[in-house]
Amino acid sequence: MNVVNPATGTEVETYDEHDEDDVEAALECSARAFEDWRTRPIRERERLLSNAADVLRGNKREYAETMTREMGKPISQAIGEVEKCAWVCDHYAEHASAYLEADHHPSPPGSTVKTEHEPLGPVLAVMPWNFPFWQVFRFAAPYLTAGNVGILKHASNVPGCALAIEEVFEEAGYPEDVFQSLLIPSDLVDELLTDDRVRAATLTGSGPAGRAVAASAGDQIKKTVLELGGSDPFVVLDDADLAAAAETGAWARNLNGGQSCIAAKRFVVHTDVYDAFLDALTEEIESLVVGDPTDEATDIGPQARPDLMETLHEQVSASVDAGATVVTGGEPLDREGAFYPPTILTDVPKGCPVDTEETFGPVATVYEVADEEAAIDEANDTRFGLGASVWTEDRDRGERVARRIDAGCVYVNQLTKSDPRVPFGGVKDSGYGRELSEAGIKEFVNRKTVWVE
Ligand code: NAP
Repeated sequence: MNVVNPATGTEVETYDEHDEDDVEAALECSARAFEDWRTRPIRERERLLSNAADVLRGNKREYAETMTREMGKPISQAIGEVEKCAWVCDHYAEHASAYLEADHHPSPPGSTVKTEHEPLGPVLAVMPWNFPFWQVFRFAAPYLTAGNVGILKHASNVPGCALAIEEVFEEAGYPEDVFQSLLIPSDLVDELLTDDRVRAATLTGSGPAGRAVAASAGDQIKKTVLELGGSDPFVVLDDADLAAAAETGAWARNLNGGQSCIAAKRFVVHTDVYDAFLDALTEEIESLVVGDPTDEATDIGPQARPDLMETLHEQVSASVDAGATVVTGGEPLDREGAFYPPTILTDVPKGCPVDTEETFGPVATVYEVADEEAAIDEANDTRFGLGASVWTEDRDRGERVARRIDAGCVYVNQLTKSDPRVPFGGVKDSGYGRELSEAGIKEFVNRKTVWVE
């Protein structure tokens, strides 16, 4: 696997891929590790997870630099990502045993009926490059602490991150093979999925990858969690605090170079405040610093790979050909590396690429709507259902609108974000299942009912 720095276009590292023999060895080791790991007291698993948080904090600059080098994340955001991984480890180190306590049920006199939460076994995690540490820890922290063991197939452009994460668990003192990274292409995933030793799978990524993994796992009667793409609406109602909405909206769209599943992608704006909001959003977006991702002052680095930037630009160009207006941006930057400027499109025709597809880069579309009802219709006019954000000074109105948006989460007067304390996941083409919180740790457990007479 060749790693090319997307900020410079130069090759920085080459890694040997694992082959089919390595896959077989990993499966065997994983199954063996599980038999021991499942018997360890949960307090011990929590303690090791707490160690992992310490390892992350102790090496955060090194890990952040690996992310920046491999996929172009601005260094300050990469450091924030490592800190967030430590937070999710802290969270489950503190709460896992309470989350997994047995549920007691009403039972006839003289009997005890409860449901215990037992691990399933080796879980395959297929992960994307955009938050190369966070997506992995979001799965590993709860699932390993529940007593499962993990096999990671990370995205092919972040092998250094995949190996660094394996090292975090080693350094934290985890028993061998409880967490393993395999550097394999996606066409070897099916070999893992169809192997009896793998008991479940989680995938974060695009719709096509999710469909392929879910179809194969379904055929094997194995449970999956799918965290897929999004085209989140950012709804600005007529009584919104426009300055706050524009400032947060600009960031919500462009964080991580716009390469976030829960980025605000479609701005849906009430006609009474449309012009004022568009001006404020444009000003905020144009003030973002695009440049060298190793510079602490940079807001937007390169896109993670040149081909991804080309796909994004094709979406923009085809939409402009169909009638969309470019307010700002709209052309790749004339410099070395895969740099795309933050872009705003208005007058977006129904059915064009930026209207119907996910835009995985710094491209915002802005829609003008007549009233609250039209805003809800526009927000829901998508096959995705990951997150949404609603802006209004009236909190009751915000909640009322939130209830009518088809999404896994809706934030009122706040950007959509993931937080270890609350469930995260989507509906419709954004996937199914939940990560994080109590809901997340219970996705891959056997809820075993034990009835004692
Ligand atoms: P991707 O191309 O789907 O890749 C994700 C992972 O799936 C990679 O490890 C990839 O391996 C693997 N993969 C690709 N095709 C596969 C197949 N047919 N069978 C098995 N595995 C396959 O997605 P991406 O470009 O890395 O990530 C961006 C997408 O992820 C966006 O759509 C984004 O919205 C979504 N995402 C969702 C969430 C969420 O929480 N809902 C979070 C982050 C990102 P290779 O790299 O080797 O191809």
